[in-house]
Amino acid sequence: MNGACIDVLRTRRSLDDAGLRYLLCTDDRDTVRALHAAAREETNSRFGRVVWLRALIEWSNVCRNDCLYCGIRRSNRSVRRYTMRPDEILSCCERAWDAGLRTFVLQGGENPAAAEGLAPVVAGIRAAWPDAAITLSLGELPPETYALLRRSGADRFLLRHETADPAHYARLHPAGMTLEGRLACLRALRSLGYQVGMGMMVGSPFQTEDDLLADLRLLASFRPEMVGIGPFIPQQDTPLGTFPPGSADRTLRLYSLVRLLLPDALIPSTTALSTLLPDGWRAGLAAGANVIMPDFTPAEYRGEYALYEGKTASGIALSVLIEKLAAAGYRIGAGRGDYNGN
Ligand code: SAM
Repeated sequence: MNGACIDVLRTRRSLDDAGLRYLLCTDDRDTVRALHAAAREETNSRFGRVVWLRALIEWSNVCRNDCLYCGIRRSNRSVRRYTMRPDEILSCCERAWDAGLRTFVLQGGENPAAAEGLAPVVAGIRAAWPDAAITLSLGELPPETYALLRRSGADRFLLRHETADPAHYARLHPAGMTLEGRLACLRALRSLGYQVGMGMMVGSPFQTEDDLLADLRLLASFRPEMVGIGPFIPQQDTPLGTFPPGSADRTLRLYSLVRLLLPDALIPSTTALSTLLPDGWRAGLAAGANVIMPDFTPAEYRGEYALYEGKTASGIALSVLIEKLAAAGYRIGAGRGDYNGN
């Protein structure tokens, strides 16, 4: 096995398990550099040196779920729970719009009643900024609620599948949550016309290389418009808080593999990567990512959306990010930055 499998992946958009495993695990740094270079070339040829910025608004940390890795899980009593008022959400959108961002991402804990209550807010955002894209990330909800939010003006929905192996999924989540349930939500979202984002944590407890291959196979068959991948980072108040963090190197390889499998995908260089790796946003872009999600959550709430250790401290000021992107030769995408592939 050698770097020749990068060519197979690039030309056929698929690769056998042995090849994918090699690219995921090899110690040969020349091969890893060649993998990132191929992904970068693919990104540049599709998008130019354009990076899309999405304004992340973490509007509520109230969650009914108890995911074993997540700092805002229901059982974590040390979190002060908050839900932003509609006017606070709208003023975040206004700040983002004025800063030139054309996608607002409303992310929050899973809370079906609050999600339904968000519909008029989504409609208000749509009315105030008809040219903006509205992305939601609200977990597993009844199909009627997804439909209501779509009718209210939402365009995109992020729902990571977390792991494509059902047994692994069960070890990361409480009884009652299943991979099948998650996938049913993703199918419902797609049938409602949402652009859909999936993805997984890298190095989550008990994860094997086979699990990551299954993740890649699932992504290649579902073909989501967006793929969010970040390293697992422990949070001390959770049952999995003593496990080691995932690997930044492996996360970067996955960005490259996904770019070559799904060349048109919108792939964020994630906050979790930048938490593990100084200037991780830059390494992510160099490995094939083409989206960054600056945090527009008001400072008074940010500390309470502590999914994992170090998250709050990892932020970079938007003005600094924009300067650094320009210095590195990137342009910021104008407009909504919708998925353009097929
Ligand atoms: N409730 C929504 C949902 O379930 O999709 C959105 C919020 S949820 C906190 C967003 C993502 O955070 C999850 O999909 C998960 O991958 C990530 N996350 C949670 N805890 C994490 C941790 N300890 N390390 C890295 N990522 C984590």
